[in-house]
Amino acid sequence: MATGNDVDVLVVGAGITGIYQLYRARDAGFSALLLEAGDGVGGTWYWNRYPGAQFDSESYTYGYLFSRELFDEWEWQEHFAHQPEIERYLNHVVDRFDLRRHIRFGAKVTSAVYDEPSGTWAVAAADGTEVRTRFLVAATGILSVPFFPDVPGRADFRGEQHHTGLWPSTPVDFAGKRVAVVGTGSSGVQLVPVVAENAASLTVYQRTPNWCTPLNNAPITEDEQARLREEFDAMCETLNTSAAGFLHLPHDRATFDDAEEERRAFFERMWDSPGFTKLTSNYTDLLFDPVANAEWCTFIAEKIRSIVQDPDTAEKLIPKDHRYGEHRPPFVTGYFEAFNLPNVSLVDVKRTPIERVTATGIETADGASQFDIIVWATGFDFGTGALTRMGIRGREGVALEDHWADGPTTFLGIQTAGFPNFFFPGGPHAAAGNNPRYNGDQVDFITDTLVYVRDNGYDTIEVDPAAEEKWTDMVDRWAEKPPSFGKSSYYFGANIPGKPRRYLLNAGGRPKLFREIDRVRENDYAAFRLSRSGSGETPPLPEAAAEAR
Ligand SMILES: Cc1cc2nc3c(=O)[nH]c(=O)nc-3n(C[C@H](O)[C@H](O)[C@H](O)COP(=O)(O)OP(=O)(O)OC[C@H]3O[C@@H](n4cnc5c(N)ncnc54)[C@H](O)[C@@H]3O)c2cc1C
Repeated sequence: MATGNDVDVLVVGAGITGIYQLYRARDAGFSALLLEAGDGVGGTWYWNRYPGAQFDSESYTYGYLFSRELFDEWEWQEHFAHQPEIERYLNHVVDRFDLRRHIRFGAKVTSAVYDEPSGTWAVAAADGTEVRTRFLVAATGILSVPFFPDVPGRADFRGEQHHTGLWPSTPVDFAGKRVAVVGTGSSGVQLVPVVAENAASLTVYQRTPNWCTPLNNAPITEDEQARLREEFDAMCETLNTSAAGFLHLPHDRATFDDAEEERRAFFERMWDSPGFTKLTSNYTDLLFDPVANAEWCTFIAEKIRSIVQDPDTAEKLIPKDHRYGEHRPPFVTGYFEAFNLPNVSLVDVKRTPIERVTATGIETADGASQFDIIVWATGFDFGTGALTRMGIRGREGVALEDHWADGPTTFLGIQTAGFPNFFFPGGPHAAAGNNPRYNGDQVDFITDTLVYVRDNGYDTIEVDPAAEEKWTDMVDRWAEKPPSFGKSSYYFGANIPGKPRRYLLNAGGRPKLFREIDRVRENDYAAFRLSRSGSGETPPLPEAAAEAR
C-alpha cells in the first residue's frame, strides 16, 4: 500500500455506526481516526436530547451484539430506552473499548478531496484539522441534518426556539411557559406528552397526522434480564436473519382469513404489542392489499376517537390522506391522551397554514398566538443530507452533490462510482428497520473489503458503474411496489422542497444485501475496480471475476 497518508481509515461521525466502524477498523490492524462535528459521542442520541426522546426499537436489539461481554455487563433499564440511557451506553462502549483516544470532537468535516495520483483523500474540518487518509468512511447518519421549514420571520422570534434534532445540553424549562410544537412526526409525538404535563399552554401545529399506535414500553424486570442473557444466541440468530433486524416474527395469516371477531381480537393484541410489531407482525397483506390496510386504519381511528374526548380534535388527529405504512409509523406513550388536557390545543396547518413567525409568536389565518418557546419538530434532510454537505470531491473533482443531483445511486448503499476508497455505511439505500443491525452489516462488509484490498496489495477500490447501476435499478424498481413506503414520505425526500423524489432506502431490505454481499465474495470482488496507485496499473482480474462482471 502506498505511504504518505496520516491514517489508513478516517471515519466521520461518532454515532452507533461510526463507533462500530472505528472499532472494526482498529481491530483489523488499520490506523484509524474518527472526526465528529459534535462535542460528544452518540450521533442521533447526542443531538436529539429533547424530553421524551427514546427508542422505538427494543433496547437490547438496538445495542451492539459483537461482544458477548458487553451485552452481559450492560443492563438496559427499559425495553425502549430513553435518550440519557442510550447516550450513556454509547459512551460506555467507547471507553470500554478504548476508542476515545481515536476520536476528535468539534471537528465538522467541510471538505474531502480525492487525490488521484496517490489514491488518498485530503480531508479538512472546520476546526482546522487536516488529515490525509487512504480510506474515507462517512458514517454521517441518515437523520443528522435538521430541517427547518421556510416560514417567514423565524429569525425575528424573541423567545426561545429549538429544533428537536439540535437540542441544547442545558435543560429547557417548560414550566409555566406558553409553548408551540410545530410538527407531529416521530419526534413531535414523543415530545408533546412531556411538554403538555409542564407547560402553561401547549399549541401543537400539525401538517400531517400520522398513524400513531402505542409503544407499550416497560421497565425490564430481573427475570427478563436473566432471560435475555440465557437467550442471547437465539436472539442474535433471529436478529441477524430477520429482514428488518427486529425480533418480531411475521404473522402467517391475511386480514380476511379471520372472521370479524377474531380480527378485532388480533388488532387488540397488535395495539397492546411492543413498538414495530404493528408493522412487522401484523396481517401478511397489511402493506399489499389496500382493503386490508383500511381495516387496520379503521381500527386505529376508532381507538383515537375513543381516547380523544373532543370529536373535532380526534378527527384532526386521524390521517385521511395516506395508508398505514406509507410514512414511518410513530409509536407513542400518552400522545392522544395529552389532547384531553385543558392546556393543550391542536392547529391543523393544512387548514390554517402558518403565515409567519413574529417577535412574540406565530400567526395563522386564524390570528396570532403568543409563545415563550417554539419547538421545531420538523424532521431532517433524510438520507443524503449530511453527505451532500461535506464538500466531497471524487475523481476529476466531481462533487458528490452533483453526482447525486437526481438522487442517490449506490452499490449496496456503501459506495458510488467515481469516488474510490469512499464508503458511507448507514447512508442512502440503507434498509428500513432496526438501524444498527443493517448498518452493522454494512460496516462488517466494508471492513472485510478493506482487509481484502490491503491483503491483496491493492491501494484503491471503486465500484464498477455497471454494478452500481444494477443495484440502484433494483432499489428504484422495488420502491415502486408494496411494501415500500409511499412517495409522500420523507423516504422519497418529500419533506424537503426541491429534493428529487427518489427512494432513499433499500427497498430490497437485508435479504437483498446479504445475497449481494455473498455474490461479491464468491466473485472475488468483481463488482469493484481494484488498482495499485502510482503504478498506473490496473491488475488483471482473476478469471472468474472477469466473467462475473
Ligand atoms: C429521535 C430519533 C429516534 C430514532 N429512533 C430510532 C429507533 O428507535 N430505532 C432505529 O433503528 N433508528 C432510530 N433512529 C434512527 C437513527 O438515526 C439510527 O438508529 C442511528 O442512530 C444512526 O446512527 P448513525 O451512526 O448511522 O448516524 P447518527 O447517529 O446520525 O450519527 C452521525 C454523526 O455524524 C456526524 N456528522 C455528520 N456530518 C458530519 C460532518 N460533516 N463532520 C463531522 N461529523 C459529522 C453527526 O454530528 C452525528 O454525530 C432515530 C432517529 C431519531 C432522530
